[in-house]
Amino acid sequence: MSDPTLDLPALRATTRRFVEREVSPHIEAWEADEAFPRALYKQAGDIGLLALGFPESVGGIPGSAAATLVVIEELARAGSGGLIAGLLSHGIGLPPVMALANDALAAEIAPPVLAGEAICALAVTEPGGGSDVANLRTTATRDGDDFIVHGSKTFITSGLRADWLTTAVRTGGEGAAGVSVLAIPGHLDGIGRSKLDKMGWWCSDTALIHFDNVRVPARYLCGSEGMGFLGLMHNFNNERLMLGAMAVAFAEACIEDALSWTRDRQAFGRSLLSRQVVRHKLVEMQTRTAAARALLEKTIAQADAGAEPVAEVCMVKAYATETLEFVAGQAVQLLGGMGYMRGTRVERIFRETKVLSIGGGANEVLRDLAARQLGW
Ligand SMILES: Cc1cc2nc3c(=O)[nH]c(=O)nc-3n(C[C@H](O)[C@H](O)[C@H](O)COP(=O)(O)OP(=O)(O)OC[C@H]3O[C@@H](n4cnc5c(N)ncnc54)[C@H](O)[C@@H]3O)c2cc1C
Repeated sequence: MSDPTLDLPALRATTRRFVEREVSPHIEAWEADEAFPRALYKQAGDIGLLALGFPESVGGIPGSAAATLVVIEELARAGSGGLIAGLLSHGIGLPPVMALANDALAAEIAPPVLAGEAICALAVTEPGGGSDVANLRTTATRDGDDFIVHGSKTFITSGLRADWLTTAVRTGGEGAAGVSVLAIPGHLDGIGRSKLDKMGWWCSDTALIHFDNVRVPARYLCGSEGMGFLGLMHNFNNERLMLGAMAVAFAEACIEDALSWTRDRQAFGRSLLSRQVVRHKLVEMQTRTAAARALLEKTIAQADAGAEPVAEVCMVKAYATETLEFVAGQAVQLLGGMGYMRGTRVERIFRETKVLSIGGGANEVLRDLAARQLGW
């Protein structure tokens, strides 16, 4: 895939160097600590990784979805989805601001985030439900020059340490037309955050956030009241495409590790890879992953050509993440007991499969949306 604005091989080399030097040597410790250092944002910001895909006017580096795919593929080599989700949480937190907010607000929020000096999270999901976004319950009630925000958000990536919480709130009546987006500074009085413990993605922080009558200046409203839902929906397309990209990249990492293990491992006097059952299993893993990659690349090319291929994005996300569930399960099986041990990439990737099938829109919800988009 070509990118008119960026040298993709150079971007790949830069990202690979960053992962080899700054991430891979530490990832086991960060996973065990359930956090990666805040300084990593600055290191990523310094080489332009966080700026990719955002406009130059706010310190960004314009780039296609194909360029973002390159970054995700290289970050995935460290084998930690939590690292990608946490380090790139601005990838879902900032686009609604860019899409909806006025220039002054975008200029206040985006540059420090893209430089890695501030952290941005997206807060949509609520304890009462995440799939049905149009029915969210957190309220923002106008009071003079402020909004008073009351309610809770849950499962929020980077929610513990985010400086900006891009928050979906209800400013109007029932349904999608009553939803708005507020960029809420994380330090405001009345915000309570608590850590949630997870099956996987250990090194990303995930939080339950309470807004207890938090007074938010009205100038932090992104766009006008009632515009939030559309801005969020557009954002979901990018998120889903990138979750699909993560799934494909992790499936490829699983195949790499399973191939290398079965080539070296001897059982009953022969390498595992010499057994037909093992070879067929690996070919099936490769076939499904290649099919997911083909669909992903086709959809990315459509998106980069200016289309908004909503049905295809839903299909990529659902198919790629379920492909990963299959491939990671088979990879653990092929590594045997070693596949069950902490410290192997496939063990961690296997624990991280379910979040990809649930997060960013559960696969059932996305298949429903795809069917509607296809006019069925
Ligand atoms: C680690 C992690 C990080 C996350 N990070 C963020 C974040 O940064 N920001 C954020 O806002 N959210 C985040 N989420 C939340 C995520 O987007 C939601 O979990 C997801 O949208 C599903 O919402 P829910 O968990 O409330 O499930 P529910 O909406 O309660 O649905 C539960 C299950 O029911 C099924 N289901 C739901 N609706 C339908 C339907 N119409 N038809 C058929 N089946 C259906 C699906 O199987 C679904 O998984 C994160 C979640 C996790 C686990």
